Formats: sequence, structure tokens, C-alpha cells
Amino acid sequence: MQLIWFRQDLRIHDHTALWQATQAGPCIALAIRSPAQSALHQDAQIKNEFYLRRLQQLKLELQSYNIPLIVQEVPLWKDIPAILLQLAQQLNIDALHANIEVGVNELSRDLHVQTLLEKNGIVFNLYHDRTLFPLVTIRNQSGQPYQVFSAFKKKCYEHLSLSLPQCYPPIQAQAPLPPHDLWDSASVDGPIADSSLFADAASLAWSVNEAEVLGLLDDFIEHQVQYYHQERDFPALDSTSRLSPYLNIGMLSIRQSLQALFRAQQGHFHIEHPGQQTWLDELLWREFYLHTLFDFPKLSKHAPFKDSTRNIPWRDAPEDLAAWQQGETGIPIVDAGMRQMLATGWMHNRVRMITAMFLSKNLLIDWRLGEAWFMQHLIDGDLAANNGGWQWCASTGMDAVPYFRIFNPISQSQKFDHDGNYIRQWVPELAHLDAKTIHEPYAKNPDLRLDYPKPIVDLKSSRVRAIEAFKNS
Ligand SMILES: Cc1cc2nc3c(=O)[nH]c(=O)nc-3n(C[C@H](O)[C@H](O)[C@H](O)COP(=O)(O)OP(=O)(O)OC[C@H]3O[C@@H](n4cnc5c(N)ncnc54)[C@H](O)[C@@H]3O)c2cc1C
Repeated sequence: MQLIWFRQDLRIHDHTALWQATQAGPCIALAIRSPAQSALHQDAQIKNEFYLRRLQQLKLELQSYNIPLIVQEVPLWKDIPAILLQLAQQLNIDALHANIEVGVNELSRDLHVQTLLEKNGIVFNLYHDRTLFPLVTIRNQSGQPYQVFSAFKKKCYEHLSLSLPQCYPPIQAQAPLPPHDLWDSASVDGPIADSSLFADAASLAWSVNEAEVLGLLDDFIEHQVQYYHQERDFPALDSTSRLSPYLNIGMLSIRQSLQALFRAQQGHFHIEHPGQQTWLDELLWREFYLHTLFDFPKLSKHAPFKDSTRNIPWRDAPEDLAAWQQGETGIPIVDAGMRQMLATGWMHNRVRMITAMFLSKNLLIDWRLGEAWFMQHLIDGDLAANNGGWQWCASTGMDAVPYFRIFNPISQSQKFDHDGNYIRQWVPELAHLDAKTIHEPYAKNPDLRLDYPKPIVDLKSSRVRAIEAFKNS
């Protein structure tokens, strides 16, 4: 009997570990929840709900393949090896199958599981699945990991031009397994048994049906991707794929995304328009951050990539931090982004950059506080991409923005939310202002009476303060 352990890969199609397990024999599926561990990793409530809703649906979808899904809850990940051994022995498991996860805690958890199971004669097979290319295979001429995205991307393009990573064939239904207390009684479903727990309307906006999500991918590729390079930076437009929550919990695979992108080219790596290339490059940023998280374990441990930035004198400014967190900074584009995230669990990429740079540069507040706040509120919160994005904006990461290139949030707002429609949606106190005034309501008229704060920081002097702090550190 094979045991397939679902983690951040809650799908049936194109799932390496599931496919391999089904090739080896009859399967039982397992998911392990640990609310305390999830809290340690600062996972957002909305992300947890989304995950549980998806597990509920996955259980139903697996039933049509006669694969029962057991859902277990454990206190912490350190409790997993013993529980897994007990379960494997109870079910006569020959081999456990799972896809590799790249964070330091995840790797250490799996090593402990492997050691204990193998001591007891049970094989633990781990597979590359979350990235397009297996970890440690994208290397420079000296065999070292790339630290610059453009060189990493070039190498990826070389690999893609040889062949595109293929999706696995669909799995077949297996013969039904005999009834068992572990999967036939509703009481064993623990955390996914009670749908009424899932009350968050913002989470309900995201589908948990795998076929629907594949449909969203197809729609994006068919109708939107050709405009992506022109429209992706404008937060008022619905012009990016919004697939990040699905890629993050693994409802969608990276191979499926790539194959869809090149479907019109019959699966050949042939770039036909700039939209296609720009979207591919975003998928490769995701790839870059996952590979680097694995290659540089310090990134999982809250350390900056650039050691030289360890001594930056970050300000201890709890009131400024709270204003940023709640979208009350008096800088409309920043507040719009922060409020979008609080209300929906998602924020547009351009605004993630603006808000992150505003915190780490204009407010000179430690980027790790921002990283944690994003993690606590994003439905797509992902250690690799979030850490990568924050360290890029804070100029502490590899291939990050130079510290002296600080976005001016007002110019960004005027450029990317020209008509002010994004601000109008998320900062309704300013909705009546015209497209010129809305980006900087008090600039021309400091006495304007609005139920909206004045800027908590002067953009010019705070920019100089940040540059000095970085230069002297
Ligand atoms: C400070 C900061 C924090 C971020 N935190 C996260 C996070 O926790 N989780 C997350 O998935 N993304 C994060 N990103 C990256 C990016 O903002 C989101 O992936 C993107 O906004 C998701 O929207 P989309 O699915 O419409 O993306 P699209 O523009 O359609 O891009 C397609 C996919 O490519 C990947 N991608 C796109 N841009 C990036 C990027 N810059 N870095 C890594 N992957 C990328 C995502 O998987 C995305 O779904 C962060 C960026 C910044 C600047």
C-alpha cells in the first residue's frame, strides 16, 4: 500500500508524488494540519481557511478515484514523524510519497520523517514538483547558484529551448479499498468536517474547484496574456492572472501554467508576443526565489541576503508601523494597497512594491516587520516570494533594487493609477477628489477638510534619511 502525503500541492492533475504513488500500487492519501505550526509561520487566517476549504473539496475529488483522504491534526511538526510511523504501520504502508518543500523547517521535518520511517523499513520518496527545474540544476559555470535574476533567467531559457517541462498524464481510478474507520467516519475529518467554520467572505471569493481553476488559467492565456506587458502595472485594471493563491497551495502546478502559455505553439518554446514573454518572466521570478530559498538557508531564518545590511539603524516607530499596517499613512496609494490586502487578502504587485518600499525606505522600518504583516494577511502568502519581494524592495536581497533608487509613491501613483480609480475604490474618503488632487490631497491645499490623515512622513527628507542610513551602515 502507498501513502501519498499532500502538503502545498492540493491538486490531482499533474502532481508528481500522486502520479508516482499511483504507479506503484493502491494508494491512501493523507493531509496533516498543524494550527500551532501554521501560527509560528504567521500564515494568514484567510489562507488557512482557503486551504481547509480546498482540502474538503480535494477529499471529494479524490473519492472519484477511490483514493480515501485521511486528515490528521498534530500539535507541531516535530510530532509528525511518530504519528506518520504509527499510521504507516497501522495501514501496512510500503512507501510514503511527497513533493519537496524548500523552507528550512520543511526540509528538517522531512529529514526526521525519512530517518524514522526508513529505520522501520518504510521508504520515503520525495519528488521535485514545485519548480519547473529540479533544485540545484540551474547553476553557473562554476557550479554555483545564480545570484542575479537575468543570468538565472538566461539559463532557464536555455533549458526551456531544449524542452518544456511536461505535465504528468491523468491518473486512473483504482479499485475501491475496503471500508476503514480512518476514512469512513465523518468524525475523522477533524478540521475539514464543519463547513460553517468557513465564514470569511474574502476567502469564499477564491474557487476551490480544480477544474474551475484550470479554466481561470485558460481564460487568462486566451484573453489577457497578450496585453499583460502593457497592463500588468495598473492596479485598477484586472489584468494580471490572480493565480498566485492557487500556485501557492498547489491547486495549480507550474508546469500546467507553462504548458498553457505555450499551448498555441503546440508546446514548443517559441515566444510570439511580449505579453507571453513578460508573464513567463514572472513565473521565472517565482522560480528564482524558490531556488534561492533552497540554496541560501539563511533566507528562511529572517536574515538579509546582503550581510552588509545587517547594521542598518531601523527605526523603532510603532505608531508609524501601525499607520502603515492599517492604511492610514496619508499617502493614498500606500493606504489603498494596505486596505486592499486587509479587505481581500490579496494586493496588486505594483502596490506591493510601493508599500514595501515606503515602509523600508521612507519610514526606515525593518523590512521583516512588513514581511510578517504581509504573511499574516495574504491569501497567497509564500515564504520564498514574500521574502524575495521584501528583500528586493528593502535593498537587502540578492539582485535587489539599489538602495538609492527609492520609488516616490506619489509619482508611482500618478503613473500607474493615473485616474485615481484604484485609490477611489480602497480609500473612499477621497473618492470625490479629481484625478489630479487624489494622489496628494493636501499638497496644493493644506487646509482641505477631509476625513483622511495628513502624510505621516515628509517624502523628500525621509528619502535622504534612508540613503544616509544605507550608505553609512
Ligand atoms: C513585497 C512583495 C511581497 C510579495 N509577496 C508574495 C507572496 O507572499 N506570494 C506570492 O505568490 N507572491 C508575492 N509577491 C509577488 C507578486 O506580487 C505576486 O505573485 C503577484 O502579485 C500575484 O498576482 P498574480 O497571480 O496576478 O500574478 P501575475 O502577474 O499573473 O504573475 C503570475 C505568477 O507569477 C508569480 N510571480 C509574479 N510576480 C512575482 C514576483 N515578483 N515574485 C515571485 N513570483 C512572482 C506568481 O506565482 C504569480 O501568480 C510579492 C511581491 C512583493 C513586491
